[in-house]
Amino acid sequence: MIKRATGFYDTFDRREKGTRATHYCPGCGHGIIHKLIAEAMAELGIQDRTVFVSPVGCAAFCFYYFDCGHIAGPHGRASALATGISRVLPDRVVISYQGDGDLGAIGFNNAFQAANRGDHFACFFVNNSLYAMTGGQMAPTTMLGQRTTTTPFGRDASKEGYPLLVCELLDRLQAPVYIERVSVADTKRINKARKAVRKALEIQKDGKGYAFVEFLSPCPTNWRMDPVAAARYTIEEMERTFPLGCFRDRSEQEAPSPNPVPQATIAELFGEGEGGEVAKVDPSFGERGFKFSGFGGQGVLSLGLVMARAAGHAGRFVSWLPSYGPEQRGGYASCSVVISGKEVGSPTVDRPDVLVAMSQPAAERYAGTVLPGGTVLYEASLPCPKVEEGVRLLAFPAMRIAAENGTPKAANTALLGAMSALGLHGLPEERVLEALDDSFSSKPHLVERNRKVYRAACDWARDNL
Ligand code: SF4
Repeated sequence: MIKRATGFYDTFDRREKGTRATHYCPGCGHGIIHKLIAEAMAELGIQDRTVFVSPVGCAAFCFYYFDCGHIAGPHGRASALATGISRVLPDRVVISYQGDGDLGAIGFNNAFQAANRGDHFACFFVNNSLYAMTGGQMAPTTMLGQRTTTTPFGRDASKEGYPLLVCELLDRLQAPVYIERVSVADTKRINKARKAVRKALEIQKDGKGYAFVEFLSPCPTNWRMDPVAAARYTIEEMERTFPLGCFRDRSEQEAPSPNPVPQATIAELFGEGEGGEVAKVDPSFGERGFKFSGFGGQGVLSLGLVMARAAGHAGRFVSWLPSYGPEQRGGYASCSVVISGKEVGSPTVDRPDVLVAMSQPAAERYAGTVLPGGTVLYEASLPCPKVEEGVRLLAFPAMRIAAENGTPKAANTALLGAMSALGLHGLPEERVLEALDDSFSSKPHLVERNRKVYRAACDWARDNL
């Protein structure tokens, strides 16, 4: 019976409401593969717990069609997303749908490592032997002799290497439960492909592990053929390089296994543990953006992190976003912190309310970005940076205060003290001290030394700024 698979939406609304057509070209294999997945999803009764990860490429608009959960991945990252989703939501059925440019090129490592870990998702790999969406350039799967826009004389192994045989490579790994290459070039092949899709999703339904199905799929548009000739080319040419068949099926032997879940929550990884404040919406606490910057090794990232932790302890919404060069010491380092009385929309801070600068390049780079009404708190041994009108400039001898109080490396803690004394972060002091102590929980001998620097800095800032 020819009918719409119930795994699809009733209409495929894009710009025009009520459309029932897909955005794919006539004769394209994507539509057929979509239908096989939508059918299997509905028939297996997993639609309401399926999360579909779409790729970049011609299939980027999958979310217009499948009536299930959906996430659109960046180029090549669908497998990585599928891993994350399957671990955080272990009861879901996760599908990663990727083309040959997406999976075979930029995303190959992600896909390969996911297969090697035996992550619990079904990966549907659509091989049409070139980059289709961008106009038919050579992909890793382009066949020897095949003409594309970037191999106009045909792919030459001596220059462009050999076509990547993904199923054969994955078949060298131990973890995958199921690997099969199918084709959607004619009815007989589509029926085999239907069984492969169903098997891959059954493996997910039963929680048995990683399943991979490669589809040889016509791309009439970039092959410059009509749909009939493209289907014939898929059979006669593609199958010579990419032989069809089941490489592995351990679905019967494999026992269901629980999806691996993370060993620690984010809070535990960052040492926050349980029992912290839950952020509450507080419209009276306006959003503030901070930038902490300096050289690597000066502790600017830690300074931002302590403040972010203090905000968390105080029940504020907060984000902390580090940025640094490749050098461990002496390179450029900065972090952005947003503290807010409502959910933080973006962790980036292009125009900070407060800049804390510990090096001259950092001060020169960011001082001009501080918002009028804002503050630049900079190490006093540096030259005075240039700022916009209405920005307050405060030179603070952080390095001297830290040294005079016995811990020269704690200039960052001194700056934290100055911020508290000046009320720059709007957080209760006991929360800041709590966060400061937390940050030295693995080096308890430094707790009191940093508290001493902090208190001295507070006193100096109150008296002098
Ligand atoms: S360009 Fe090729 S892969 Fe893309 S929609 Fe058209 S036929 Fe399908």
